[in-house]
Amino acid sequence: MDAIPGKVFVVGVTLLITVIAYSSQYFIFIPALKEAEFDTWKILIPLNVVVLLIYWNYYLAVTTDPGKVPSQWAPPASILSIGEKHIPELPGPRFCKTCQVYKPPRAHHCSYCRRCVLKMDHHCPWINNCVGAHNYAHFLRFVINVNIACFYVLGLLIWRVRYILDEIRHFRFNAEPTKTEVIFLTLNFVLDMIVLFCVGILSGYHLYCLARNQSTIESWERGKVETMIRRGKILPFDYPFSLGVYKNICSVLGNNPLLWFVPTRRLTSDGLTFEVAAGIDESAQYLWPPRDPDDLRPSIFSAKYRRQQERRQLNMAEEDSEDYYDSGSMSDNDSFGGRDGYSLTDEEENMQQIVTDSVSQLTGGFTSNQADQPYYPSQPYHHGPTLLQGQRRRFDPYHAYTPDDHVDDDDEDDTTPLVSLIPRASPAKENKAD
Ligand SMILES: [Zn+2]
Ligand SMILES: [Zn+2]
Repeated sequence: MDAIPGKVFVVGVTLLITVIAYSSQYFIFIPALKEAEFDTWKILIPLNVVVLLIYWNYYLAVTTDPGKVPSQWAPPASILSIGEKHIPELPGPRFCKTCQVYKPPRAHHCSYCRRCVLKMDHHCPWINNCVGAHNYAHFLRFVINVNIACFYVLGLLIWRVRYILDEIRHFRFNAEPTKTEVIFLTLNFVLDMIVLFCVGILSGYHLYCLARNQSTIESWERGKVETMIRRGKILPFDYPFSLGVYKNICSVLGNNPLLWFVPTRRLTSDGLTFEVAAGIDESAQYLWPPRDPDDLRPSIFSAKYRRQQERRQLNMAEEDSEDYYDSGSMSDNDSFGGRDGYSLTDEEENMQQIVTDSVSQLTGGFTSNQADQPYYPSQPYHHGPTLLQGQRRRFDPYHAYTPDDHVDDDDEDDTTPLVSLIPRASPAKENKAD
């Protein structure tokens, strides 16, 4: 699917909507309703209104930017200061290493869009766009209207088939359908059922997520966090964004229920900060989701990471100083670059280079004061040359520290497990059911 240009999907979806909506009316419903002496337009106008809403919401979902992180955005000083406190277990604020920006709450990096997306839900090939903070409502209205239209078309198709069978049963053979009508009846029935099945499941799932105020990514995160809590790996950590079903819906579709199905580009949130549930501290939104302690590696912001790197460099430097690098890989081929029967892969040579450079930095490149500087920006991050980037030139932590696991599009290494800092609501609080 990756090889197919996104615009092909958009054209395909538009054609599918058009075929189901208009071939059914032109070849089946209009002649049949006239034949049955029904008021044709009274029956078909509601269908056409829903079809127009489908087109309009689809257009908005495709063309609306889901939300990008403003270049100057940074979490509050209280969150930034966590990184400065050098608490080994607390890696610091969420930060995207690819985009080099702090991640607002609920934002994730999309590898298709190659940037961080605000309140990212998922990357949808069918709209050739990410579904995020600013187009989630359009996406939701689109799938709901598709369901309504498909049910409407299915109802009329079933009515038409029953009408034909009734006519035949009463020996009125002049009511037999033409070959063209049979073809379009079959085509529309098959397409309608496929779309209804797929979009039905999708929209059911998104209505469930809407009621819980969670994105698709957050529903995975919640499942993972609940498992960790059940296994006693972390302290209970309440999902901070669920405000109760009605407010959850309002947070996406707006505060006026009369406008929930009106497709406009009005924004219900800036996508950068979010209301949290009663009894939960505001700062919890910056700390979701807590991480599995087993996966916990210190982030590039933490003092623990810095100390580990220094320790590793010193240990490796000692080995290197003995003119011996035990890679554990044996080679009989001396021309491959091995020493005393040992070979170095390119990766190992790179690592040696990093170690050599780093040791020279630690011994000569840094003054003692410089060496005490932590590897995190002490001030909100800004584009352009920064402390972090300046440090990368001297010692690139990203080369020495390569994450080895990825969960979908999100770079989880940037999330923080700051469970113990968060004042939690009591277990009996009102949104426990969420
Ligand atoms: Zn990013
Ligand atoms: Zn995307």
